[in-house]
Amino acid sequence: MRSAQTARRHPRPDCAHARDGEGRAIEYLRLSVTDRCNCRCAYCMPAGGVPMLRHEDVCSFEELVRIVRACCELGVRKVRLTGGEPLVRRGLPELVRMLREVPGVEELALTTNATLLAPVAGELAAAGLDRVNVSLDSLRPERYAAITRGGRLDDALAGIAAAREAGLAPLKLNCVLMGGINDDEAADIAGIARNEAVDVRFIELMPIGEAARWPRARFVPAEAVLEAVPELGPVAGPGGEPLRDGVAELFSAPGWAGRVGLIRPMSHRFCFGCTRIRVTADGRLKPCLHSADEVPLRGLSGEALTQALLAGIALKPAHHGMDGTHASESARAMNEIGG
Ligand code: SAM
Ligand code: SF4
Repeated sequence: MRSAQTARRHPRPDCAHARDGEGRAIEYLRLSVTDRCNCRCAYCMPAGGVPMLRHEDVCSFEELVRIVRACCELGVRKVRLTGGEPLVRRGLPELVRMLREVPGVEELALTTNATLLAPVAGELAAAGLDRVNVSLDSLRPERYAAITRGGRLDDALAGIAAAREAGLAPLKLNCVLMGGINDDEAADIAGIARNEAVDVRFIELMPIGEAARWPRARFVPAEAVLEAVPELGPVAGPGGEPLRDGVAELFSAPGWAGRVGLIRPMSHRFCFGCTRIRVTADGRLKPCLHSADEVPLRGLSGEALTQALLAGIALKPAHHGMDGTHASESARAMNEIGG
């Protein structure tokens, strides 16, 4: 694992945003609040689980807030809480309240499997959470339970309904298609956007964590969604150009209430537009999901924390190196990083 030379001083950005070596302005932080999860999705975690961080190795809320504050001083505007499953972290609404107070946080979002969301959606919204992305890989209860190794589809659907009720909008659903496992549901899952004003996003399976050892046949290009639903066409932006939402390319069809997003890290590398950094639950900055580089942030404050963040941002690679034969270089699995 390479570490940044934080001893070298990095000039503070003279514009609103810190930029990496490729000139990308960093404005999006994915903050993992736990490596634990109530599910064991087949592509994410081994059935028996993985060694978990010790309680004392997980950042406290105060430490997470200090990190977010320093990131916002460097231009971060969007913060997404993730995990593991962020809803297993006790007191999450309190963390949301604390982060809402941080100057510069314009959007505060959560990525969740939603199985624990129903009872707390209202409290999270009241605390200042703006929106949620929900992972949903099947609409068939038995298959959902098999993929998540024990999750209940009804709980996830109740969580989605509660999120809507609480005004956590716009709602986005994320699906990972896996060849021979759930790719026959592409049309059904995309079809949720036919009648509902949601973005249904298909994320290509990546060779990281458990999936790094999977056969190639599991890796379905997101193009399969367009083949399964031929009526979908690109959504046009204001100038007629194909519209994107972050790393998602957007598609829809006449009469559809929502949109379908394709997130294609494998078949269409989108790293040129990546403006995100990640912080793990044990307080290490990852400039790229797939690189081995990490910069420890724990115990730092003030200028030392800023310098560590700038050093990490400078390490952001031009692009990831994954393809059909090269797996992710990340030493950590997805449940440790947060996706
Ligand atoms: N537990 C929460 C959830 O499932 O939404 C948040 C953490 S999870 C690690 C974040 C996202 O990573 C999920 O949408 C999940 O589907 C995705 N993910 C995990 N492993 C993946 C892999 N090998 N390839 C693509 N996406 C993956
Ligand atoms: Fe848990 Fe999310 Fe990983 Fe599934 S994808 S095991 S819900 S962290």
